[in-house]
Amino acid sequence: MDKIYLDNAATTPISEEVIDAMVATMKMNFGNPSSTHSFGQEAKILIENVRRQVADYLHVSPAEIIFTSCGTESNNMIIKSSVEHLGVERIISSPLEHKCVSESILDMKSRKGVEVSYIRPNEKGDIDLDTLETLLKASDKKTLVSLMHANNEIGNITDIKKISALCKANNALFHSDTVQTMVHMNLDFSDILVDFASCSGHKFHGPKGVGFAFIRKSSGLKGIITGGPQERSLRAGTENVAGIVGLGKALEISLKNMEAYTNHMQAIKEYAIEQLSASIPGIKFNGRSAEKENSLYTVLSALLPYKNPLIGLQLDMKGIAISQGSACSSGASKPSMVMMMVLSEDEMDECTPLRISFSHMTTKADIDALASALKEISSDFTIEKTNVEHR
Ligand code: PLP
Repeated sequence: MDKIYLDNAATTPISEEVIDAMVATMKMNFGNPSSTHSFGQEAKILIENVRRQVADYLHVSPAEIIFTSCGTESNNMIIKSSVEHLGVERIISSPLEHKCVSESILDMKSRKGVEVSYIRPNEKGDIDLDTLETLLKASDKKTLVSLMHANNEIGNITDIKKISALCKANNALFHSDTVQTMVHMNLDFSDILVDFASCSGHKFHGPKGVGFAFIRKSSGLKGIITGGPQERSLRAGTENVAGIVGLGKALEISLKNMEAYTNHMQAIKEYAIEQLSASIPGIKFNGRSAEKENSLYTVLSALLPYKNPLIGLQLDMKGIAISQGSACSSGASKPSMVMMMVLSEDEMDECTPLRISFSHMTTKADIDALASALKEISSDFTIEKTNVEHR
């Protein structure tokens, strides 16, 4: 059975060229980048080349890119160090954030007594910027705003340029979890004035175990892992040289093909909306997922008009890998916080969310197979209540 992979927001298949670049690095450049001899210096040069490549993509200085092990580490570092080293006393965020952000914030609340305010999104998953402005103006406490660029479950895109301007005008620091948009979109941080952002290599056909944090130089952020002076003393530990080279190769391929990849995935997403709507009467799409504007082209969040907690397993048995939410919470029995925000209580009780996420490798045939598998599974369910109100 040919398997179909439609869970690219969880992770993407690593590309052959990335594997080749990493294997060559592991074979030829095993030196420790901190060593002063030629073996070390050759490895160091490889890292600095990728740092420059990332900095060029973001229009920032290479000194503002700190390699880490993943998006989770980057987000932890930014939030925790903002509190511990920059004197942040208040964090404004939303219930839509990835767990690595929301749990880091809760940790700072319980251990450091940080005040936390959440902006509740509307039923489409939008964050109201007037509410943000009111909150920003309501206190003189040193504040960090942490709002993600694109949501990993529903794909909503937040206007981080506007938010960064609001934060600047109100003397607040701004962190955006950009894990789902980094390298998928053009990002110019000389124009979008975020202070901190995060990236994970495995979301764009790079390897797992490598990512980076963007840390604006003027912010003065420090690291949370102490030890040697690697990564400008912001992140101690011998660097993952092959991983960083792999991230650089994946970035190079994605940027070179960005227009073609974007157009392809946008067309696949539109096709998926059409085919699923035709195959499953009553299907709905969550948040801004089915809209072209303000929605990430890689993610489509659907809502099946019946309750079937086994849907993921049933699709898997038919060779189709898909997720019901984010990979990090897919083992949980409770609906995710994001779904609680965008679905009505009736929908949570009586419907089934599905996250379909694409890559440039996804084909129309993959979507046809999904639509027909879902049609078959759906035929076992009597759709008793067709008037469940969609939020
Ligand atoms: N933030 C978002 C929005 C994500 O989607 C993910 C991964 O799913 C992460 C952070 C965590 O990234 P990593 O898997 O590299 O730890």
